[in-house]
Amino acid sequence: MTLNSHISDVLTLFREQRQLSRTDVMEITGLSRSTVNQRLTALHAAGLISAIGGGESTGGRPSSLFAFNPARAGLLAVDVGASGFTVALCDLQGTPLRYVTRTVNVWEGPERVLGEVLEALDGLGDLTGVWGIGVGVPGPVDFAAGRVVNPPIMTGWDGFDIAGWFRSRFQVPVVVENDANARAAVEARTLQADNLISLKLGTGIGSGLVFNGQVVRGNEGAAGDIGHTRTALAEGAALLQCRCGNVGCVEAYASGWALVRDLTELGIAVSSATQVVQLVKEGNITAVRLVRQAGRVLGDAVASLVSILNPAVIVVSGQLAECEEVLMSGVRERVYQRTSPLATRRLVITTSTLGNLGGVTGLALITADQIFSADAIEELLRLAA
Ligand SMILES: [Zn+2]
Repeated sequence: MTLNSHISDVLTLFREQRQLSRTDVMEITGLSRSTVNQRLTALHAAGLISAIGGGESTGGRPSSLFAFNPARAGLLAVDVGASGFTVALCDLQGTPLRYVTRTVNVWEGPERVLGEVLEALDGLGDLTGVWGIGVGVPGPVDFAAGRVVNPPIMTGWDGFDIAGWFRSRFQVPVVVENDANARAAVEARTLQADNLISLKLGTGIGSGLVFNGQVVRGNEGAAGDIGHTRTALAEGAALLQCRCGNVGCVEAYASGWALVRDLTELGIAVSSATQVVQLVKEGNITAVRLVRQAGRVLGDAVASLVSILNPAVIVVSGQLAECEEVLMSGVRERVYQRTSPLATRRLVITTSTLGNLGGVTGLALITADQIFSADAIEELLRLAA
């Protein structure tokens, strides 16, 4: 192992465990006392860990209990959704300190949307001391290049250099991530699940996978996108048009926009996923029936993933998650019907406890993972010194 990977690994321990003594670090890493001392000194000099009172201090030696210092720097998170965005200044643990939310349609293109983002960032106040920016977008992302690739709903964004756009204005590292992946990352950390499927059900369907503790992006950033897989249709059922241009996608049957379409066709005036949820909460029989059916379609889709990947948790977020059991009962029914008992023996299927700011926290955490990685930490420590 190189020096930098050791520093990165030791910092990761502090980011996960918050407080550790010198001895804890030696025991967990297996590194020698002198090596651990070097790492702690470097991290302490950079202000990334602080010595705290108590600990195992004996014989007049200085305290040897340390904690991660999340206030050392800030991270900007820009969470762009289909119909609006949230920008936030977060600490190094992803906790939002200040945020601004605005409405804008993502298909108006990058110049328009990012122009509004820039204005909103002004509203966050002093941004000196920001070490990185995480940008979440509702489409497939080439993570290494920081661009969206062939996005179904992001007209005009294909190949646009999002990372370069931010880097030229802020001169800090920029990470671009699919919004559902960012959410999956923070759900996994919150639920302490190394193997998890995260579904975000709003206007569209986003899904992210975390396995072995890592976001699964796949070769082209398209991994886990169950919204545009072909749904298991009942015999004779119509193949419905999806907004991605295909037919028969899960989204065309079980998303917020599909429910709005179906309710409208049945003469019930709704225009958003939020209004669908409202109808369900009021006990509207048609809305309840359609949402329960949507849950079954989702359950079918996710059942294959459960069989293949054997997650510990399926966590559902987004507006439609507020339908609670009306939606979740359909998901559970099909997942348990269509998978092996072994794959579901300890499977937890639940709604998310993270609010609307879960996305920005996830983006900040993924950005922190990047700037604190073995490849990047040397540069960071140089700048921080
Ligand atoms: Zn589709």
